[in-house]
Amino acid sequence: MVVSIYNTLTREKEEFRPIEEGKVRMYVCGPTVYNYIHIGNARPAVVFDTVRRYLEYKGYDVNYVLNFTDVDDKIINRANELGEDVFAVSDRYIDAYLEDVSKLGVKKATHNPRVTNTMQEIIAFIGSLIEKGYAYEAGGDVYFKPRAFEGYGKLSHQSIDELRSGARIQIGEKKEDPLDFALWKGAKEGEISWDSPWGKGRPGWHIECSAMAKKYLGETIDIHAGGQDLTFPHHENEIAQSEANNGKTFANYWMHNGYININNEKMSKSLGNFVLTRELLEQHDPNVIRFFMLSVHYRNPINFSEDLLESAKNSLDRVITAYQNLGHRKSSSTNLDKDQHHWTEKINILKQRFEAEMDDDFNTANAISVLFDLTKEANVYLNGTHTSESIIALFQETMKSFLEILGVNLQSEKELLDEEIESLIEERNEARKSRNFTRADEIRDLLKEKNIILEDTAQGVRWKRG
Ligand SMILES: [Zn+2]
Repeated sequence: MVVSIYNTLTREKEEFRPIEEGKVRMYVCGPTVYNYIHIGNARPAVVFDTVRRYLEYKGYDVNYVLNFTDVDDKIINRANELGEDVFAVSDRYIDAYLEDVSKLGVKKATHNPRVTNTMQEIIAFIGSLIEKGYAYEAGGDVYFKPRAFEGYGKLSHQSIDELRSGARIQIGEKKEDPLDFALWKGAKEGEISWDSPWGKGRPGWHIECSAMAKKYLGETIDIHAGGQDLTFPHHENEIAQSEANNGKTFANYWMHNGYININNEKMSKSLGNFVLTRELLEQHDPNVIRFFMLSVHYRNPINFSEDLLESAKNSLDRVITAYQNLGHRKSSSTNLDKDQHHWTEKINILKQRFEAEMDDDFNTANAISVLFDLTKEANVYLNGTHTSESIIALFQETMKSFLEILGVNLQSEKELLDEEIESLIEERNEARKSRNFTRADEIRDLLKEKNIILEDTAQGVRWKRG
């Protein structure tokens, strides 16, 4: 089945057809690194990592680029406040970002470009836009002229006149039209700056993504993604810059994730009701936070509350417990061929349903309910009298692949309890006595995986945690 993606540009679900067969060029707008991230910033990280994981599951090779805005007004202000230099601040919060999202199971990006490492490409891009008549210099600043670009407003579905009526010229800005936006900002006294043909300064925010996408992914990319709040002006401006400069479609599919509300109120810094990802990670299992975020379709708003997190925890516990129980029951008797066929078919249908939900614009909410159905079936199977190794393995494999697509980390499963270890050792002794060495080895490997060391002594087998 072909994946379909809701494209903000056309406001329709479209079949995903990559530019290059088997490959995906994907760009996600990353954070401005001046503070720890709140859960509103963690949501796109988790959502688009899941998109990537699913595309990889479908066999695509995904080139995943996520940028860091490591120089900007907020970072400069923060550095001044703390009496540090800009690099000390941005390095610290890039590390913190990567630490937080990796706990949430987000895979490393293929590339994590930074503004300060892409300066030459950014300056060249701006120079080219001036040359082509889309941008102009004004007293050390450079501005882009949206009026010169036909199609401005197409992503946010607004006409240029509507957009113009909402725009203002701020004090100190040297632009000709309220809608013009800065590509380059001349340096203020004592501010961090780079040399350019227009004097010392630094880039505006939007140009970095156009320059980075081109550098790492080419002039036309497959998927461009980010939070819904980036649609306008950020992504609209990226389209204008890239398409004006390259004369080609910038991105074929635009994906945007919804907001996070806290106890039914919009999360915002001014309301003071924001939750830092870092603090949440101290109180909750990262798997639960991730599972909770994926329990709602990515385009819908998600309401955050401790109660909802608790219910996500209970649901995930049921799934993980069933998965572990499958692991503890690898063999018993073999069941009848008729049953074998029945269960294989049942599991395969669930697998197809899971894929159909993910194919449908990455509907993780529905895919998770298929995972719950699979869990129920696994429990029914385990409670039956006859079980076969191959059906247990198929349940395990299927459940594992669903959890891997959702990014739930099975490594962080709970440790084995003492009595579980002892009953496994007992089972291993029995297996050896009855010369079932396959099972005995399986148990030894399982315990080894859990870091349990076995010692054969004259008094029998002793164990300790490694
Ligand atoms: Zn961007």
